[in-house]
Amino acid sequence: MKNKVHNFSAGPSILPNIVFEQASSAINNFNNTGLSILEISHRSKDFMDVLEEARSLALEISDLDANKYSCLFLQGGASMQFLMTAHNFLNKNAAYINTGSWSTKAIKEAKLYGNVTEIASSSDKNFNYIPKDIIINDDYDYLHITSNNTIFGTQFHSFPLSDSPLIADMSSDIFSRKIDLSKFDLIYAGAQKNLGPAGATMVIINKELLDRVQREVPSMLSYKVHIEKDSSFNTPPVFSIYCILLNLRLIKQEGIESISKKNKIKSDFIYNEIDRNKCFSGFSEFSDRSIMNATFNINEGFDVDLFNKICSNNNISGINGHRSVGGYRASIYNALPLESLNILIDAMKEFELSQE
Ligand code: PMP
Repeated sequence: MKNKVHNFSAGPSILPNIVFEQASSAINNFNNTGLSILEISHRSKDFMDVLEEARSLALEISDLDANKYSCLFLQGGASMQFLMTAHNFLNKNAAYINTGSWSTKAIKEAKLYGNVTEIASSSDKNFNYIPKDIIINDDYDYLHITSNNTIFGTQFHSFPLSDSPLIADMSSDIFSRKIDLSKFDLIYAGAQKNLGPAGATMVIINKELLDRVQREVPSMLSYKVHIEKDSSFNTPPVFSIYCILLNLRLIKQEGIESISKKNKIKSDFIYNEIDRNKCFSGFSEFSDRSIMNATFNINEGFDVDLFNKICSNNNISGINGHRSVGGYRASIYNALPLESLNILIDAMKEFELSQE
């Protein structure tokens, strides 16, 4: 059994206990094959069934038409998608909204392939907000956004309207809230937050996009090849995909609507405490606060070391903010139980009392 540590890490991050239990059991004996999930062939029927179920569940949970969209599990992390999206779709000019470090990195990669227009950015305020009222005049190859900014704790709560295909990096808020995913033409998400362990990246792609590229695409970078080869052009990350499947089954069972409500409740709890407690201030603008990553700082004059000590006494792990923001970041992904959040909120209250 794992020790009870309250894991607020931004990723890799907490997963449901049942996923840990089922994955552990599959490490010993997968599907009664007498083989471990770590040694089974990716060409075996048992694993091909895993892949097929994971793919179809992801599309079902997304409420997307399986004839129109394909779901892939690739390697290279979300960072590989920064360049794969551009390599496959940037012919002349692509639009990007820059809302943080990950968008900045996506823009850097895309510039290797063509013209990139940064149509909006929140860099003027260290990315503590989401640009609004974005007007998209030109015809772009695509518009790229980062739906949730893991580092800064901001999130798009409504999406820009665009005639160009919409591509979103949803690494840190995939399947956390009810949104109309049919507005998107390509979604990607590194697994290691709301999906599973690091190793696989889920990509959901509108197949109509596939034939637009005008350049040669190496096989490993080609969405078309990965679709034709059922995510098995090369050896897929078997264990990561298996854990994703276990988690997708739970997500389907609970339903996105219920998950969405729970996440709203959890994020209201933590933000209410940040706003109420005289020792802390939130980092991001109210209207753009992320329901997945709550960023906050200790106000001047309060004893940072003592708060860190209270956190460690309570087995609170992973709440240090990213170096570009400082302070704290509580990542409250789907699997984080309310119990853990309450422990953190109690620690914040205890700290406030100690500072009287
Ligand atoms: N995009 C976002 C929104 C992220 O939070 C991260 C970090 N996990 C990345 C991209 C980069 O992901 P990876 O490390 O899987 O390349």
